[in-house]
Amino acid sequence: MTEELKLKTEQLAELQKKLYAFNYASSSIYLDGATVAPRDTEEGRGEALGILSEYTYELATSKETIELLDYLKEHKDELTPHQAREVELLLRDNDYMKNIPQDEYVAYQKILSKADYVWHRAKEENDYESFKPVLKDIFDYNIRFAKYYKPDEEPYNTQLNMFERGLTMDQCDKFFATLREHIVPLIKKIGEVPQVDDSPLYGDFPIEKQKELTKYLMNYMGIDPHHCVCGETEHPFTLEFTKDDVRITTHYFENNVASSMYSVIHEGGHALYELGGADEHKYTVVAGGVSMGIHESQSRFFENIIGRSEAFTGAILPKFKEMFPEQFADITPRRFYEMINKAQPSLIRTEADELTYALHVMVRYEIEKKMFAGELTVDDIPAEWNKLYKEYLGVDVPNDREGCLQDSHWSGGSIGYFPSYAIGSAYGAQMLAKMREDVDVEAVCASGTLKPISDWLSERIYQYASMYDPKELFEKVCGAPFDPTYYTDYLEKKYSDIYNL
Ligand code: ZN
Repeated sequence: MTEELKLKTEQLAELQKKLYAFNYASSSIYLDGATVAPRDTEEGRGEALGILSEYTYELATSKETIELLDYLKEHKDELTPHQAREVELLLRDNDYMKNIPQDEYVAYQKILSKADYVWHRAKEENDYESFKPVLKDIFDYNIRFAKYYKPDEEPYNTQLNMFERGLTMDQCDKFFATLREHIVPLIKKIGEVPQVDDSPLYGDFPIEKQKELTKYLMNYMGIDPHHCVCGETEHPFTLEFTKDDVRITTHYFENNVASSMYSVIHEGGHALYELGGADEHKYTVVAGGVSMGIHESQSRFFENIIGRSEAFTGAILPKFKEMFPEQFADITPRRFYEMINKAQPSLIRTEADELTYALHVMVRYEIEKKMFAGELTVDDIPAEWNKLYKEYLGVDVPNDREGCLQDSHWSGGSIGYFPSYAIGSAYGAQMLAKMREDVDVEAVCASGTLKPISDWLSERIYQYASMYDPKELFEKVCGAPFDPTYYTDYLEKKYSDIYNL
Protein backbone atom coordinates (compact mmCIF):
# COMPACT_ATOMS: atom_id res chain seq x y z
CA MET A 1 0.00 0.00 0.00
CA THR A 2 1.42 3.40 -0.98
CA GLU A 3 1.84 6.20 1.54
CA GLU A 4 -0.91 8.10 -0.21
CA LEU A 5 -3.35 5.22 -0.04
CA LYS A 6 -2.46 4.67 3.60
CA LEU A 7 -3.26 8.29 4.34
CA LYS A 8 -6.57 8.01 2.47
CA THR A 9 -7.62 4.92 4.41
CA GLU A 10 -6.90 6.83 7.61
CA GLN A 11 -9.12 9.63 6.37
CA LEU A 12 -11.77 7.03 5.55
CA ALA A 13 -11.71 5.78 9.14
CA GLU A 14 -11.84 9.33 10.46
CA LEU A 15 -14.81 10.24 8.26
CA GLN A 16 -16.78 7.25 9.52
CA LYS A 17 -16.00 8.08 13.14
CA LYS A 18 -17.37 11.55 12.61
CA LEU A 19 -20.52 10.17 11.00
CA TYR A 20 -20.83 7.78 13.90
CA ALA A 21 -20.60 10.69 16.35
CA PHE A 22 -23.33 12.66 14.58
CA ASN A 23 -25.56 9.61 14.47
CA TYR A 24 -24.88 8.97 18.13
CA ALA A 25 -25.93 12.51 19.03
CA SER A 26 -29.10 12.36 16.91
CA SER A 27 -30.05 8.96 18.32
CA SER A 28 -29.54 10.18 21.89
CA ILE A 29 -31.85 13.11 21.26
CA TYR A 30 -34.42 10.81 19.67
CA LEU A 31 -34.22 8.33 22.54
CA ASP A 32 -34.61 11.10 25.08
CA GLY A 33 -37.68 12.44 23.28
CA ALA A 34 -39.28 9.01 23.09
CA THR A 35 -38.63 8.05 26.69
CA VAL A 36 -38.12 10.53 29.53
CA ALA A 37 -38.34 14.05 28.06
CA PRO A 38 -41.36 16.09 29.24
CA ARG A 39 -44.27 16.39 26.86
CA ASP A 40 -43.96 19.92 25.46
CA THR A 41 -40.24 20.00 24.75
CA GLU A 42 -39.97 18.85 21.15
CA GLU A 43 -39.10 22.28 19.76
CA GLY A 44 -35.60 22.39 21.23
CA ARG A 45 -34.83 18.89 20.08
CA GLY A 46 -36.10 19.71 16.59
CA GLU A 47 -33.73 22.69 16.39
CA ALA A 48 -30.76 20.60 17.52
CA LEU A 49 -31.60 17.74 15.17
CA GLY A 50 -31.93 20.15 12.25
CA ILE A 51 -28.44 21.51 12.85
CA LEU A 52 -26.95 18.06 13.31
CA SER A 53 -28.51 16.93 10.04
CA GLU A 54 -26.96 19.92 8.24
CA TYR A 55 -23.54 18.86 9.45
CA THR A 56 -24.18 15.23 8.54
CA TYR A 57 -25.29 16.25 5.08
CA GLU A 58 -22.23 18.43 4.57
CA LEU A 59 -19.88 15.77 5.83
CA ALA A 60 -21.38 13.07 3.63
CA THR A 61 -21.56 15.14 0.46
CA SER A 62 -18.61 17.54 0.67
CA LYS A 63 -16.14 17.82 -2.18
CA GLU A 64 -13.40 16.31 -0.01
CA THR A 65 -15.56 13.33 0.89
CA ILE A 66 -16.50 12.67 -2.72
CA GLU A 67 -12.88 12.95 -3.84
CA LEU A 68 -11.77 10.64 -1.08
CA LEU A 69 -14.39 8.01 -1.90
CA ASP A 70 -13.73 8.21 -5.63
CA TYR A 71 -9.99 7.80 -5.05
CA LEU A 72 -10.57 4.77 -2.83
CA LYS A 73 -12.99 3.27 -5.29
CA GLU A 74 -10.33 3.43 -7.98
CA HIS A 75 -7.93 1.63 -5.64
CA LYS A 76 -10.45 -0.84 -4.33
CA ASP A 77 -8.31 -3.88 -5.22
CA GLU A 78 -5.65 -2.66 -2.81
CA LEU A 79 -8.12 -2.25 0.06
CA THR A 80 -9.12 -4.90 2.57
CA PRO A 81 -12.56 -6.43 1.84
CA HIS A 82 -13.85 -4.50 4.83
CA GLN A 83 -12.54 -1.16 3.61
CA ALA A 84 -13.89 -1.87 0.13
CA ARG A 85 -17.33 -2.50 1.63
CA GLU A 86 -17.10 0.73 3.68
CA VAL A 87 -16.42 2.67 0.49
CA GLU A 88 -19.25 0.92 -1.35
CA LEU A 89 -21.78 1.70 1.38
CA LEU A 90 -20.62 5.30 1.75
CA LEU A 91 -20.88 5.84 -1.98
CA ARG A 92 -24.42 4.48 -1.98
CA ASP A 93 -25.43 6.95 0.74
CA ASN A 94 -23.58 9.66 -1.05
CA ASP A 95 -25.36 8.92 -4.31
CA TYR A 96 -28.66 9.38 -2.56
CA MET A 97 -27.74 12.51 -0.59
CA LYS A 98 -25.93 14.37 -3.32
CA ASN A 99 -29.00 14.31 -5.53
CA ILE A 100 -31.11 16.04 -2.91
CA PRO A 101 -30.72 19.82 -2.56
CA GLN A 102 -29.37 20.59 0.89
CA ASP A 103 -32.16 23.04 1.80
CA GLU A 104 -34.79 20.39 1.00
CA TYR A 105 -32.94 17.77 2.97
CA VAL A 106 -32.71 20.01 6.04
CA ALA A 107 -36.33 21.16 5.70
CA TYR A 108 -37.43 17.54 5.57
CA GLN A 109 -35.44 16.68 8.72
CA LYS A 110 -37.16 19.54 10.53
CA ILE A 111 -40.57 18.27 9.44
CA LEU A 112 -39.70 14.82 10.71
CA SER A 113 -38.64 16.18 14.08
CA LYS A 114 -42.06 17.73 14.69
CA ALA A 115 -44.03 15.00 12.89
CA ASP A 116 -43.66 12.53 15.71
CA TYR A 117 -45.22 14.94 18.15
CA VAL A 118 -48.00 15.99 15.78
CA TRP A 119 -48.83 12.36 15.07
CA HIS A 120 -48.87 11.49 18.80
CA ARG A 121 -51.34 14.27 19.52
CA ALA A 122 -53.47 13.41 16.50
CA LYS A 123 -53.63 9.79 17.56
CA GLU A 124 -54.49 10.66 21.16
CA GLU A 125 -57.27 12.95 20.02
CA ASN A 126 -58.38 10.76 17.10
CA ASP A 127 -57.84 13.76 14.85
CA TYR A 128 -56.51 12.74 11.45
CA GLU A 129 -57.09 16.25 10.05
CA SER A 130 -54.37 17.69 12.29
CA PHE A 131 -51.84 15.12 11.08
CA LYS A 132 -52.81 15.34 7.44
CA PRO A 133 -50.66 18.36 6.36
CA VAL A 134 -47.52 16.85 7.91
CA LEU A 135 -48.25 13.48 6.40
CA LYS A 136 -48.71 15.12 3.01
CA ASP A 137 -45.30 16.81 3.36
CA ILE A 138 -43.65 13.53 4.31
CA PHE A 139 -45.09 11.67 1.34
CA ASP A 140 -44.31 14.57 -1.02
CA TYR A 141 -40.69 14.83 0.13
CA ASN A 142 -40.15 11.10 -0.12
CA ILE A 143 -41.60 10.94 -3.60
CA ARG A 144 -39.45 13.87 -4.69
CA PHE A 145 -36.29 12.44 -3.13
CA ALA A 146 -36.89 9.08 -4.78
CA LYS A 147 -37.22 10.83 -8.14
CA TYR A 148 -34.08 12.92 -7.58
CA TYR A 149 -32.16 9.80 -6.70
CA LYS A 150 -33.36 7.48 -9.47
CA PRO A 151 -35.22 9.51 -12.10
CA ASP A 152 -35.78 6.48 -14.32
CA GLU A 153 -37.04 4.13 -11.64
CA GLU A 154 -40.56 3.81 -10.22
CA PRO A 155 -40.33 5.96 -7.06
CA TYR A 156 -41.92 3.32 -4.86
CA ASN A 157 -39.36 0.73 -5.99
CA THR A 158 -36.64 3.16 -4.93
CA GLN A 159 -38.39 3.54 -1.61
CA LEU A 160 -38.66 -0.24 -1.05
CA ASN A 161 -34.96 -0.52 -1.83
CA MET A 162 -34.05 1.74 1.04
CA PHE A 163 -35.33 -0.85 3.48
CA GLU A 164 -34.63 -4.03 1.53
CA ARG A 165 -32.12 -3.67 -1.23
CA GLY A 166 -33.26 -5.47 -4.37
CA LEU A 167 -36.94 -5.58 -3.42
CA THR A 168 -39.44 -4.43 -6.06
CA MET A 169 -43.19 -3.92 -6.29
CA ASP A 170 -43.33 -6.81 -8.67
CA GLN A 171 -41.78 -9.15 -6.11
CA CYS A 172 -44.01 -7.78 -3.36
CA ASP A 173 -47.14 -8.22 -5.45
CA LYS A 174 -46.30 -11.87 -6.12
CA PHE A 175 -45.24 -12.51 -2.55
CA PHE A 176 -48.39 -11.02 -1.08
CA ALA A 177 -50.58 -12.84 -3.59
CA THR A 178 -49.02 -16.16 -2.48
CA LEU A 179 -49.62 -15.29 1.15
CA ARG A 180 -53.24 -14.32 0.57
CA GLU A 181 -53.88 -17.53 -1.33
CA HIS A 182 -52.89 -19.54 1.75
CA ILE A 183 -53.79 -17.29 4.65
CA VAL A 184 -57.31 -16.22 3.66
CA PRO A 185 -58.74 -19.79 3.42
CA LEU A 186 -57.08 -20.67 6.73
CA ILE A 187 -58.67 -17.70 8.47
CA LYS A 188 -62.01 -18.66 6.99
CA LYS A 189 -61.72 -22.24 8.30
CA ILE A 190 -60.72 -20.98 11.74
CA GLY A 191 -63.82 -18.79 11.74
CA GLU A 192 -65.96 -21.91 11.38
CA VAL A 193 -64.61 -23.82 14.42
CA PRO A 194 -64.83 -22.97 18.15
CA GLN A 195 -62.53 -20.09 19.06
CA VAL A 196 -59.82 -20.35 21.73
CA ASP A 197 -60.63 -18.71 25.06
CA ASP A 198 -57.63 -16.52 25.87
CA SER A 199 -59.26 -14.50 28.67
CA PRO A 200 -56.59 -15.42 31.28
CA LEU A 201 -54.14 -13.24 29.31
CA TYR A 202 -56.32 -10.22 30.04
CA GLY A 203 -56.50 -9.65 33.76
CA ASP A 204 -54.65 -7.70 36.37
CA PHE A 205 -50.91 -7.74 35.73
CA PRO A 206 -49.07 -5.16 37.87
CA ILE A 207 -46.41 -3.29 35.88
CA GLU A 208 -43.73 -4.10 38.46
CA LYS A 209 -44.34 -7.79 37.89
CA GLN A 210 -44.28 -7.34 34.14
CA LYS A 211 -40.89 -5.64 34.51
CA GLU A 212 -39.67 -8.73 36.32
CA LEU A 213 -41.00 -10.80 33.43
CA THR A 214 -39.06 -8.59 30.98
CA LYS A 215 -35.82 -9.35 32.85
CA TYR A 216 -36.64 -13.05 32.85
CA LEU A 217 -37.30 -13.08 29.10
CA MET A 218 -34.20 -11.07 28.22
CA ASN A 219 -32.15 -13.44 30.31
CA TYR A 220 -33.79 -16.46 28.65
CA MET A 221 -32.85 -15.01 25.28
CA GLY A 222 -29.24 -14.65 26.38
CA ILE A 223 -29.20 -10.82 26.19
CA ASP A 224 -26.32 -9.40 28.23
CA PRO A 225 -27.76 -6.82 30.67
CA HIS A 226 -24.44 -4.98 30.71
CA HIS A 227 -24.88 -4.14 27.04
CA CYS A 228 -28.64 -3.88 26.60
CA VAL A 229 -31.42 -2.50 28.77
CA CYS A 230 -35.16 -2.14 28.25
CA GLY A 231 -36.93 1.23 28.60
CA GLU A 232 -40.57 2.24 28.21
CA THR A 233 -42.12 4.06 25.24
CA GLU A 234 -45.50 4.48 23.59
CA HIS A 235 -44.29 2.30 20.70
CA PRO A 236 -41.56 -0.27 21.30
CA PHE A 237 -38.36 0.00 19.27
CA THR A 238 -34.69 -0.95 19.26
CA LEU A 239 -31.90 1.57 18.99
CA GLU A 240 -28.21 0.76 18.72
CA PHE A 241 -25.36 3.09 19.52
CA THR A 242 -22.64 0.47 19.08
CA LYS A 243 -22.58 -3.32 19.30
CA ASP A 244 -21.81 -2.78 22.98
CA ASP A 245 -24.70 -0.44 23.69
CA VAL A 246 -28.13 -1.43 22.44
CA ARG A 247 -31.43 -0.17 23.87
CA ILE A 248 -34.81 -1.79 23.54
CA THR A 249 -38.15 -0.44 24.73
CA THR A 250 -41.57 -1.85 25.49
CA HIS A 251 -45.01 -0.63 26.50
CA TYR A 252 -46.73 -2.13 29.54
CA PHE A 253 -50.49 -2.59 29.65
CA GLU A 254 -51.78 -3.46 33.10
CA ASN A 255 -54.61 -5.58 31.66
CA ASN A 256 -52.67 -7.45 28.97
CA VAL A 257 -49.63 -9.53 29.79
CA ALA A 258 -48.84 -10.83 26.29
CA SER A 259 -48.46 -7.40 24.68
CA SER A 260 -45.29 -6.30 26.45
CA MET A 261 -43.98 -9.86 26.62
CA TYR A 262 -43.96 -10.22 22.83
CA SER A 263 -42.66 -6.70 22.32
CA VAL A 264 -39.71 -7.57 24.51
CA ILE A 265 -39.04 -10.79 22.61
CA HIS A 266 -39.40 -9.01 19.26
CA GLU A 267 -37.12 -6.12 20.17
CA GLY A 268 -34.81 -8.60 21.88
CA GLY A 269 -34.42 -10.32 18.51
CA HIS A 270 -33.38 -7.01 16.94
CA ALA A 271 -31.00 -6.43 19.85
CA LEU A 272 -29.31 -9.83 19.52
CA TYR A 273 -28.58 -9.06 15.86
CA GLU A 274 -26.96 -5.74 16.77
CA LEU A 275 -25.11 -7.12 19.79
CA GLY A 276 -23.69 -9.96 17.71
CA GLY A 277 -21.75 -7.85 15.20
CA ALA A 278 -18.02 -8.49 14.94
CA ASP A 279 -15.68 -5.95 16.59
CA GLU A 280 -14.07 -4.97 13.29
CA HIS A 281 -17.27 -3.18 12.20
CA LYS A 282 -17.28 -0.78 15.11
CA TYR A 283 -17.38 2.93 14.20
CA THR A 284 -17.71 2.09 10.51
CA VAL A 285 -20.75 2.19 8.24
CA VAL A 286 -20.64 -1.61 8.09
CA ALA A 287 -21.83 -1.76 11.72
CA GLY A 288 -25.49 -2.59 12.26
CA GLY A 289 -27.95 -4.88 10.55
CA VAL A 290 -27.93 -4.88 6.77
CA SER A 291 -31.60 -4.28 5.98
CA MET A 292 -35.01 -4.07 7.58
CA GLY A 293 -36.06 -7.36 5.98
CA ILE A 294 -33.16 -9.21 7.58
CA HIS A 295 -33.68 -7.28 10.82
CA GLU A 296 -37.35 -8.18 10.96
CA SER A 297 -36.48 -11.77 10.10
CA GLN A 298 -34.51 -11.86 13.35
CA SER A 299 -37.05 -10.07 15.55
CA ARG A 300 -40.01 -11.98 14.20
CA PHE A 301 -38.09 -15.25 14.35
CA PHE A 302 -37.76 -14.84 18.11
CA GLU A 303 -41.20 -13.33 18.59
CA ASN A 304 -43.18 -15.93 16.64
CA ILE A 305 -41.26 -18.93 15.44
CA ILE A 306 -39.53 -19.38 18.78
CA GLY A 307 -41.57 -17.25 21.20
CA ARG A 308 -44.96 -18.58 20.13
CA SER A 309 -43.84 -22.20 19.70
CA GLU A 310 -45.30 -24.96 21.82
CA ALA A 311 -41.83 -25.79 23.16
CA PHE A 312 -41.10 -22.24 24.32
CA THR A 313 -44.53 -21.40 25.74
CA GLY A 314 -44.44 -24.74 27.59
CA ALA A 315 -41.01 -23.91 28.99
CA ILE A 316 -41.98 -20.51 30.39
CA LEU A 317 -45.41 -21.51 31.74
CA PRO A 318 -43.99 -22.47 35.17
CA LYS A 319 -42.67 -18.89 35.49
CA PHE A 320 -46.15 -17.56 34.65
CA LYS A 321 -47.71 -19.87 37.24
CA GLU A 322 -45.23 -18.63 39.84
CA MET A 323 -45.69 -14.93 38.99
CA PHE A 324 -49.42 -14.88 38.26
CA PRO A 325 -50.91 -17.88 40.08
CA GLU A 326 -54.42 -16.42 40.10
CA GLN A 327 -54.64 -16.48 36.30
CA PHE A 328 -52.46 -19.43 35.35
CA ALA A 329 -52.52 -21.99 38.20
CA ASP A 330 -54.80 -24.38 36.32
CA ILE A 331 -53.64 -23.72 32.77
CA THR A 332 -52.10 -26.68 30.92
CA PRO A 333 -49.11 -26.18 28.57
CA ARG A 334 -51.29 -26.99 25.56
CA ARG A 335 -53.96 -24.50 26.60
CA PHE A 336 -51.33 -21.81 27.17
CA TYR A 337 -49.88 -22.45 23.71
CA GLU A 338 -53.34 -22.16 22.14
CA MET A 339 -54.13 -18.93 23.99
CA ILE A 340 -50.87 -17.34 22.89
CA ASN A 341 -51.66 -18.27 19.29
CA LYS A 342 -55.32 -17.36 19.10
CA ALA A 343 -55.90 -16.20 15.52
CA GLN A 344 -58.61 -13.67 14.86
CA PRO A 345 -58.82 -10.73 12.44
CA SER A 346 -58.39 -7.50 14.39
CA LEU A 347 -57.70 -3.79 14.04
CA ILE A 348 -54.21 -3.24 15.41
CA ARG A 349 -51.16 -4.53 13.55
CA THR A 350 -48.81 -4.70 16.53
CA GLU A 351 -51.34 -6.75 18.50
CA ALA A 352 -52.18 -9.03 15.58
CA ASP A 353 -51.56 -12.77 15.75
CA GLU A 354 -48.94 -14.40 13.59
CA LEU A 355 -51.44 -15.62 10.99
CA THR A 356 -53.41 -12.45 10.26
CA TYR A 357 -50.40 -10.17 10.63
CA ALA A 358 -49.37 -10.16 6.98
CA LEU A 359 -52.81 -8.88 5.97
CA HIS A 360 -52.23 -5.76 8.08
CA VAL A 361 -48.98 -5.22 6.21
CA MET A 362 -50.72 -5.60 2.86
CA VAL A 363 -53.15 -2.79 3.67
CA ARG A 364 -50.25 -0.41 4.29
CA TYR A 365 -48.36 -1.62 1.25
CA GLU A 366 -51.34 -1.00 -1.05
CA ILE A 367 -51.85 2.50 0.33
CA GLU A 368 -48.18 3.48 0.03
CA LYS A 369 -48.02 2.11 -3.49
CA LYS A 370 -51.09 4.09 -4.54
CA MET A 371 -49.83 7.27 -2.85
CA PHE A 372 -46.56 6.99 -4.76
CA ALA A 373 -48.39 6.34 -8.01
CA GLY A 374 -50.53 9.44 -7.48
CA GLU A 375 -53.69 7.33 -7.32
CA LEU A 376 -54.48 8.45 -3.76
CA THR A 377 -54.03 11.65 -1.78
CA VAL A 378 -53.79 12.12 1.98
CA ASP A 379 -57.49 13.04 1.91
CA ASP A 380 -58.32 9.50 0.80
CA ILE A 381 -56.18 7.58 3.28
CA PRO A 382 -58.73 7.03 6.09
CA ALA A 383 -61.46 5.79 3.74
CA GLU A 384 -59.02 3.61 1.77
CA TRP A 385 -57.65 2.18 5.00
CA ASN A 386 -61.10 1.27 6.27
CA LYS A 387 -62.10 -0.21 2.94
CA LEU A 388 -59.02 -2.44 2.78
CA TYR A 389 -59.43 -3.60 6.38
CA LYS A 390 -62.95 -4.69 5.54
CA GLU A 391 -61.80 -6.39 2.36
CA TYR A 392 -58.70 -8.16 3.70
CA LEU A 393 -59.59 -8.76 7.34
CA GLY A 394 -63.35 -8.44 7.39
CA VAL A 395 -63.30 -5.91 10.23
CA ASP A 396 -64.96 -2.49 10.54
CA VAL A 397 -62.60 0.28 11.62
CA PRO A 398 -64.45 2.39 14.20
CA ASN A 399 -62.09 5.41 14.22
CA ASP A 400 -58.76 6.64 12.83
CA ARG A 401 -56.96 6.12 16.12
CA GLU A 402 -57.46 2.39 15.64
CA GLY A 403 -57.17 2.88 11.89
CA CYS A 404 -54.72 4.88 9.83
CA LEU A 405 -53.25 6.75 12.82
CA GLN A 406 -52.13 3.62 14.66
CA ASP A 407 -48.53 3.27 13.41
CA SER A 408 -45.56 5.55 13.99
CA HIS A 409 -43.78 4.67 10.71
CA TRP A 410 -45.13 7.34 8.41
CA SER A 411 -44.55 10.10 10.93
CA GLY A 412 -40.94 8.89 11.15
CA GLY A 413 -40.58 9.05 7.37
CA SER A 414 -40.41 5.26 7.05
CA ILE A 415 -42.46 4.76 3.92
CA GLY A 416 -41.71 1.44 2.24
CA TYR A 417 -40.76 -0.19 5.54
CA PHE A 418 -43.90 -2.27 6.17
CA PRO A 419 -43.28 -4.98 3.56
CA SER A 420 -40.07 -5.82 5.46
CA TYR A 421 -42.16 -7.23 8.31
CA ALA A 422 -43.88 -9.74 6.07
CA ILE A 423 -40.78 -10.57 4.02
CA GLY A 424 -38.78 -10.90 7.23
CA SER A 425 -41.35 -13.31 8.70
CA ALA A 426 -41.08 -15.45 5.58
CA TYR A 427 -37.25 -15.32 5.62
CA GLY A 428 -37.43 -16.61 9.19
CA ALA A 429 -39.46 -19.69 8.26
CA GLN A 430 -36.87 -20.71 5.67
CA MET A 431 -34.05 -20.05 8.15
CA LEU A 432 -35.81 -22.31 10.65
CA ALA A 433 -35.80 -25.19 8.18
CA LYS A 434 -32.05 -24.68 7.70
CA MET A 435 -31.40 -24.32 11.42
CA ARG A 436 -33.12 -27.64 12.11
CA GLU A 437 -30.32 -29.40 10.20
CA ASP A 438 -27.95 -28.44 13.02
CA VAL A 439 -30.00 -27.55 16.08
CA ASP A 440 -32.70 -29.40 18.02
CA VAL A 441 -34.82 -26.27 18.25
CA GLU A 442 -37.49 -27.72 20.56
CA ALA A 443 -34.90 -29.07 23.00
CA VAL A 444 -33.14 -25.70 23.10
CA CYS A 445 -36.42 -23.86 23.78
CA ALA A 446 -37.05 -26.11 26.78
CA SER A 447 -33.48 -25.86 28.09
CA GLY A 448 -33.74 -22.54 29.94
CA THR A 449 -31.70 -20.52 27.47
CA LEU A 450 -32.04 -19.80 23.78
CA LYS A 451 -28.32 -19.23 23.41
CA PRO A 452 -27.64 -22.18 21.05
CA ILE A 453 -30.19 -20.63 18.67
CA SER A 454 -28.65 -17.17 18.76
CA ASP A 455 -25.18 -18.73 18.45
CA TRP A 456 -26.29 -20.39 15.20
CA LEU A 457 -27.68 -17.09 13.93
CA SER A 458 -24.65 -15.18 15.13
CA GLU A 459 -22.26 -17.38 13.19
CA ARG A 460 -24.29 -17.04 9.98
CA ILE A 461 -25.87 -13.58 10.24
CA TYR A 462 -25.11 -11.33 13.21
CA GLN A 463 -21.34 -11.26 12.96
CA TYR A 464 -21.42 -9.96 9.38
CA ALA A 465 -23.48 -6.83 10.17
CA SER A 466 -23.73 -5.05 6.78
CA MET A 467 -20.88 -6.84 5.00
CA TYR A 468 -23.24 -8.50 2.53
CA ASP A 469 -26.37 -7.29 0.80
CA PRO A 470 -29.57 -8.93 2.08
CA LYS A 471 -30.12 -11.27 -0.85
CA GLU A 472 -26.53 -12.51 -0.77
CA LEU A 473 -26.61 -12.95 2.99
CA PHE A 474 -29.93 -14.79 2.88
CA GLU A 475 -28.67 -17.21 0.26
CA LYS A 476 -25.45 -17.80 2.19
CA VAL A 477 -27.53 -18.68 5.27
CA CYS A 478 -30.13 -20.84 3.56
CA GLY A 479 -28.08 -22.22 0.68
CA ALA A 480 -30.99 -21.45 -1.65
CA PRO A 481 -32.98 -18.51 -3.00
CA PHE A 482 -35.88 -17.13 -1.00
CA ASP A 483 -38.99 -19.28 -1.26
CA PRO A 484 -42.18 -18.08 0.50
CA THR A 485 -43.71 -21.57 0.57
CA TYR A 486 -41.58 -22.35 3.63
CA TYR A 487 -43.61 -19.69 5.39
CA THR A 488 -47.03 -20.68 4.07
CA ASP A 489 -46.30 -24.37 4.90
CA TYR A 490 -45.22 -23.37 8.37
CA LEU A 491 -48.41 -21.36 8.97
CA GLU A 492 -50.67 -24.07 7.56
CA LYS A 493 -49.11 -26.76 9.69
CA LYS A 494 -49.13 -24.69 12.86
CA TYR A 495 -52.71 -23.40 12.65
CA SER A 496 -54.21 -26.66 11.35
CA ASP A 497 -52.82 -28.30 14.48
CA ILE A 498 -53.99 -25.61 16.89
CA TYR A 499 -57.52 -25.48 15.48
CA ASN A 500 -57.85 -29.15 14.45
CA LEU A 501 -58.59 -28.19 10.85
ZN1 ZN B 1 -39.18 -4.89 14.46
